[in-house]
Amino acid sequence: MSLVPAALAPWQQQRLDTALAAWRAGRLGHAQLLCGPEQLGKRAVADALVARLLCEAPQHLPPCGHCRDCTLRVAGTHPDFRLLTFEEVPKSSPPRLRTEIVVDQVRDVIGSMQLTAQRGGAQIVLIDPADALNKAAANALLKTLEEPVGNRFLLLVSAAPQDLPATIRSRCQRIEFVVPERESARAWLAAQGHPGARATEALEAAQGHPGLADAWLRAGHLALRETTLKELAGVARGVLAPLGVAQAWMADTDVAALRLRFVADAAVALARHGAGVGAAPVAGLTAPADTDKLAAWFDQLNRLRPQLTAPLRHELALAGLLAEWRGLMATTETRR
Ligand SMILES: [Zn+2]
Repeated sequence: MSLVPAALAPWQQQRLDTALAAWRAGRLGHAQLLCGPEQLGKRAVADALVARLLCEAPQHLPPCGHCRDCTLRVAGTHPDFRLLTFEEVPKSSPPRLRTEIVVDQVRDVIGSMQLTAQRGGAQIVLIDPADALNKAAANALLKTLEEPVGNRFLLLVSAAPQDLPATIRSRCQRIEFVVPERESARAWLAAQGHPGARATEALEAAQGHPGLADAWLRAGHLALRETTLKELAGVARGVLAPLGVAQAWMADTDVAALRLRFVADAAVALARHGAGVGAAPVAGLTAPADTDKLAAWFDQLNRLRPQLTAPLRHELALAGLLAEWRGLMATTETRR
């Protein structure tokens, strides 16, 4: 966390301003659920909210950055702030992180919250990602949610709020993040140093999502998308072998899931608009007449995607799907 929080995008600032207005009016609920798609800045807004709630400066001012509370927060040692996130698996070698937030973590934090605020101001627990709370952890947290204490806040950050128990969701005020208007997204991308044409292409690929578009532009993922879609077209035309393509995609573990996302998006674009719309590299493919089959194919691909994080080999499953893709596209061409 930097001393002075980084500038927020307009859609982020707006959510922060709304929450701070509620706080100044004394109506900020003790539990806030910051939810919406990934990479829209939920955590940045949560961090900015934490900074303001802890700072000693008068409420109408931004966090000062130099009081004792700000200094402790930036050093990561503020006694009234706790972050609940993935922890290391005990004694794991090489060290690896848990994939869920466990009940001991929640109990530990709640235990420390029973005392009054050590610095005399707000007490805050930030949970990110909140949907990673396992069942026991969520139950332990529920008790705290049911017994609000003045000037004590729980901030839950989640891109998958539907995975939270309804009992938790219903006790939170929501701060919803949505993909902003295209013009606002484009202006923000320009401010990040992305020129017009590339920004437009990236926004198209990311379906209007500026945070994703920015991340992809920085990582050079638009080129990866282009290559992936060309290879997909190669499979459909029978120029590339499904197994070879599947092996190449899966071997590149860092971006395997992203490749499949690009493929899934292309399948949706084909089903919706036919070939070429918003996905120039898919040009040359015709949308299958049998959209039911395409939808079934899309479902199978989506079932494969979350499994990629498991240490399994998925070349064969993917090769099977790519062979089917060729069949889907070929069927269309013979029908026309
Ligand atoms: Zn301060």
